[in-house]
Amino acid sequence: MHKPVAVCLDLEGVLVPEIWINVAATTGIDDLKITTREMPDYDKLMRQRLDILDQHALKIGDIQAVIEKMGPLQGATDFLAWLRERYQVIILSDTFYQFAQPLMRQLGFPTLLCNELEVGGNGRIVNYHMRMQDPKRHAVVAIKSLNFFTMAAGDSYNDTAMLGEADAGFFFRPPDHLPKEFPRFPVTQNYGELQERLVQAAM
Ligand SMILES: [Mg+2]
Repeated sequence: MHKPVAVCLDLEGVLVPEIWINVAATTGIDDLKITTREMPDYDKLMRQRLDILDQHALKIGDIQAVIEKMGPLQGATDFLAWLRERYQVIILSDTFYQFAQPLMRQLGFPTLLCNELEVGGNGRIVNYHMRMQDPKRHAVVAIKSLNFFTMAAGDSYNDTAMLGEADAGFFFRPPDHLPKEFPRFPVTQNYGELQERLVQAAM
């Protein structure tokens, strides 16, 4: 039986710029430039980020103000529209709903599975709550269990479990070191290449 197709996409680095890199550039705090592209341990990375925000007295509103001004990557809106005409699309991200909201509005609110921040009354980000361990891989497992053929694309360490679990997984503009560590995933550098790979894999 031919299965319907679901595509799981990473958000940052695939459809929108890296949120924290933009926050680092706007605030001038270089330590906030580190992302999952460099640091595989997301918990350690988030603790470090929240500590830095506290040290600089930055609140949720300051971060949201930066995110409001970011737009999707060039071509992302058209790519997503193209994809949604053909397949079911689910965005799997390790970011937080409070951060993603302004960007998701610009993308037409596709389905997003991510996490929540805990914000104090004064706007200080006091904690973050991941829905579960290994959320991207679990999402793919769940979608496969519904009898979909699954494809996935991402750019970082935190995508590799998702790419591995999917029936077909692709890197999209990864940092140079990642394909060396994970040579099984074909590398795509632009939306045209990714579209070609997805169409071929779905046939
Ligand atoms: Mg990413």
